Amino acid sequence: MDRTQELLKESGALLHGHFLLSSGKHSDGYVQCAKLLMHPERAAEAVGVIADKLRRAGVQADMVCGPAMGGIVIAYELGRQLGVPAIFTERENGEMTLRRGFEVREGQRILIAEDVVTTGKSSMESARALESKGAKVIGIACLVDRSEAGTVSVPIYSSTQIRINTYDADTCPLCRSDEPLVKPGSRNLTPSAGCRDLYI
Ligand SMILES: [Zn+2]
Repeated sequence: MDRTQELLKESGALLHGHFLLSSGKHSDGYVQCAKLLMHPERAAEAVGVIADKLRRAGVQADMVCGPAMGGIVIAYELGRQLGVPAIFTERENGEMTLRRGFEVREGQRILIAEDVVTTGKSSMESARALESKGAKVIGIACLVDRSEAGTVSVPIYSSTQIRINTYDADTCPLCRSDEPLVKPGSRNLTPSAGCRDLYI
């Protein structure tokens, strides 16, 4: 277990059980990054891993942009550590867009910041919104990389990688067990303190 996973665990952010994801799939685990990010010193340490990776890779961003909500705190902390501004995209009528007077310039090199990357859908939507204004998206910085190879077309710089099993609803083995299906964010979540580290 790496340091970021320890921080997630200490924060009660690693959950195990039987979860209904927004995609409709079921999973045996869930990462609730907000539980780590609520502690500023832990957030600084976990995001520091990403900042170190970027420095070692020689990646120089002009700005960081996090899709709301999950990316906002990561973008802010990463921007602080890299010494660059941090902005966010948000949905307006279903479209990921820049609001609040945020602007990007032609050729500006931007890192997308996320809490968890799975399919990379919201990251890539944000990337398109920024690139339509002339900026260049140079990668995705995230706390937890859960992506599968080939789903994201730009480099990912993560603080940690965690594997969680996901299942189609009609073939989910957990549905055949006694484990109740819960929606992440509901109050039925089981903190992972002392849990079996099945998905790490
Ligand atoms: Zn299930």
